Amino acid sequence: MSKNNSQVITCKAAICWGSGEALKVEEIQVEPPKSCEVRLKMLCASLCHTDILFFQGLLVPLFPRVLGHEGVGMVESMGNEVREVKEGDVVIPTYLGECGECDNCMSGTSNLCHKYPLRMSGLMQDDTSRMSIRGQKLYHTFSCSTWSEYTVVDANYIVKIHSTTPLPHASFISCGFSTGFGAAWKEAKLQRGSSVAVLGLGAVGLGVVEGARMQGAARIIGVDKNERKREKGQCFGMTDFINPEGCNESISEVVKKMTGGMGVDYCFECTGVAPLVNEAVEATKMGKGTTILIGAVNETSVHINFIALMRGRTLKGSTFGGIKVQSDLPIIVDKCINKEIQLDELGTHEVSLEDINKAFELTRQPDCVKVVIKM
Ligand SMILES: [Zn+2]
Ligand SMILES: [Zn+2]
Repeated sequence: MSKNNSQVITCKAAICWGSGEALKVEEIQVEPPKSCEVRLKMLCASLCHTDILFFQGLLVPLFPRVLGHEGVGMVESMGNEVREVKEGDVVIPTYLGECGECDNCMSGTSNLCHKYPLRMSGLMQDDTSRMSIRGQKLYHTFSCSTWSEYTVVDANYIVKIHSTTPLPHASFISCGFSTGFGAAWKEAKLQRGSSVAVLGLGAVGLGVVEGARMQGAARIIGVDKNERKREKGQCFGMTDFINPEGCNESISEVVKKMTGGMGVDYCFECTGVAPLVNEAVEATKMGKGTTILIGAVNETSVHINFIALMRGRTLKGSTFGGIKVQSDLPIIVDKCINKEIQLDELGTHEVSLEDINKAFELTRQPDCVKVVIKM
């Protein structure tokens, strides 16, 4: 039985009014869900690097906007056509859907559904918003807007999870961690015994390390200029660490030296720092090395070394690590519940929604991986 609670809810949300402006936690109005939508009471959220790009206005500057795309919530009400969930179900809102029928969903090689794509318009599928403040329209973030006590999402962009899943872990799985984990598992389909380099050991990079370990990689080289990430990487299965700070050789040269001059089978670029794309490509093996780009970038173009690519290397881009939200995400959640993957090490800081601006400050601290936002 579905119930469409027709009441408008007034609740608190973190709003960005303009590029780089400190967020304001204000009362907003959240409309009831339309026929194929679900209204969620958010239980927990977290901050991902992409939120910083939205905040800085570097990624589709639409304001005022309710930020946040990582989180976990409980179904409060839903439209009369929603069959997948019921009131009280715990769900992860996602920014990709999976119809299971389109060309990409059927291909077995892509997670980018044509019917339910990444939504950059800041609006729902019918090009309207479910959130407003003092009568003014608020933009959503992708299909989520998780930094709000209540949010409305399309039913095709949610995944039901077991209610025993630790909430911060569910939140990390909703973007950052799964992006990395999926890149090793689904996008690279990493072979047992292979060698791997990971540029940037944030939540995404640590997800790659964990995914590579699960796939049976023999060598996992982590690269980060933050020395604190040496120990962090080891917790997830990293075998070697490079701190490029103070190194007089390039990252690719050091990786090659560590691998008998060959380079690695797979390199994952998780920093989004444009010039590092070439370093990532150069760090892979001639003839068969694969580089996968998963870091959110704030630049639209990058110079690529043609010669390195021509020598049989592959450069592949990825969204959400190739994870299909309906087919693959529940498998990651199961691994989390069964403690096959350890996510405690990711959550380093915690703030309340009221203190959301502190979350941005905390990300600059050397020991910070993920900031959990308590609702
Ligand atoms: Zn993210
Ligand atoms: Zn599809």
